[in-house]
Amino acid sequence: MSNCIFCKIVNGELPSENVYQDEEIIAFKDIKPQASVHVLVIPKKHIDSADALEQEDAGLAGRLILTAAKIAGQFNLGNGYRIVTNIGEDGGQAVEHLHFHLLGGEKLKDSF
Ligand code: AMP
Ligand code: ZN
Repeated sequence: MSNCIFCKIVNGELPSENVYQDEEIIAFKDIKPQASVHVLVIPKKHIDSADALEQEDAGLAGRLILTAAKIAGQFNLGNGYRIVTNIGEDGGQAVEHLHFHLLGGEKLKDSF
């Protein structure tokens, strides 16, 4: 999607501090971290949100979560962490490209 900032990160038009990348997934540090560790894990393919996932994306959806957990290991988050995805306006989604927030490195506040 031409107007999507995360697609621009995927294709190199916008800079990002990447912590992981493979053929279908990229993970980078959040520009405005809400915790000591705050990484965004996204599919390279544009998908609006978790609500827009299709049956054919089931494997990718699983691999996004597995990747977030693997990155948690890289960052030594053995004491716990949070994986969050916001959906739509009421869910607080600002960027309409599916992303999982990986948050940790400290005792996290209650999310709601
Ligand atoms: P959400 O509110 O769930 O859509 O989260 C969007 C996240 O993207 C926020 O935590 C932003 O700080 C983050 N963000 C926005 N633009 C960038 C960027 N260029 N690089 C890294 N993170 C970004
Ligand atoms: Zn996109």
